[in-house]
Amino acid sequence: MSHSSQVLIINTGSSSLKFAIVDPLSGKEQLSGIGEALGSASPRMEWVHDGVEQDCRLDAGASHHSVIEILVEQILGELPVLSEELIAVGHRVVHGGEYFSSSVLIDQQVINTIDQCASLAPLHNPPALKGIRAAMDEFPQLPQVAVFDTAFHQSLPEHAYLYALPYSLYRDQRIRRYGMHGTSHQFVSERAALLLGRPLAETNTITAHLGNGASITAVQGGASVDTSMGMTPLEGLVMGTRCGDLDPGVLIHLAESLNHSTDKLKNLLNRESGLLGISELSNDCRELEQAAAQGHHGAKLALEIFCYRLAKYIAAYTLPLRHVHALVFTGGIGENSSWIRERTMHWLGALSYELDREQNEATRFGAEGPISRSGTPVALVVPTNEEWIIARDAAAIVTGGLR
Ligand code: AMP
Repeated sequence: MSHSSQVLIINTGSSSLKFAIVDPLSGKEQLSGIGEALGSASPRMEWVHDGVEQDCRLDAGASHHSVIEILVEQILGELPVLSEELIAVGHRVVHGGEYFSSSVLIDQQVINTIDQCASLAPLHNPPALKGIRAAMDEFPQLPQVAVFDTAFHQSLPEHAYLYALPYSLYRDQRIRRYGMHGTSHQFVSERAALLLGRPLAETNTITAHLGNGASITAVQGGASVDTSMGMTPLEGLVMGTRCGDLDPGVLIHLAESLNHSTDKLKNLLNRESGLLGISELSNDCRELEQAAAQGHHGAKLALEIFCYRLAKYIAAYTLPLRHVHALVFTGGIGENSSWIRERTMHWLGALSYELDREQNEATRFGAEGPISRSGTPVALVVPTNEEWIIARDAAAIVTGGLR
């Protein structure tokens, strides 16, 4: 791989397509952009290159394919040097089921398998396939690589991934814990080992990815051994608008006593719960912190439940690891909210964690490093970089050097 090799990264949502061109060696982003409101009456697109922001309106109904066409013709057409440096396209794919425990070169069989996994991630895998097909059309000369959110968690032992349901549901339907945010947990656990100056194989971390979606993972010697998201991204921590852990009896009650349809339940659990649902104000942690400071009861309660649930998981994940070398905070909230970190560390006093308040306030907005007092269990802030893992994996696969 030459120093100027670049990877185009594509991350598709149901009505959006994000793209970035990233140097797999340094993680440096050369170009990034997004097409939004795709399929609607007024889709738009914006991108940044060399600090210069540009945008354009797209034709009504423009698709994922239209965004990639504009990327090729309009944006890369004016950046021939960058185009020539592209060696691969890396696609973020949410669900790889039990089929993929690492990133793979995409061929027809991989496409069929991702399609097969769509029943496990109906909101995520179908748009990923749209992105893959569009990129294959528009970049026929480039190898395409799929990087799965679930792959890092394929190392979970049976006792961590099985639900206590009839075993036939696992055997016949593959209903089990898969876990998500794998690239982020992998990136920050590797980075934490580096910061601690320890070999990855001898480092145990608990990595808390706290963003609008949130999950936590126990990583033992570089392998995920437990994680909080389940078959879907609904389980586990309190999230922006998702409920996380819930007594399944509540769903039966809502269906039977209040006649909630499955669509209504889906919406309730995915879009109306979490920080937004509790606070009745917002899913945005910043807004909630401001409101809580002004005495808003719902905001205070939402943040407190968030921290308490998080601390309980950290305590639980200490069990499989036995010795935890570092607790790692990442994601928009983990990297920036000194308030959430302080309250969580407060609960963790029972496990002898002690916060260094000054370091906690200083380590925000992209800064990295410890926020615990020396001589106490280590807590670190490590900004995540999922794009770098995708670029790195794609480059390693096309140059024949994947771990
Ligand atoms: P993400 O999904 O990783 O982009 O994270 C989004 C979440 O990070 C939102 O809840 C934001 O409010 C939160 N966030 C971003 N910046 C800050 C900040 N400075 N303080 C508190 N929360 C923040």
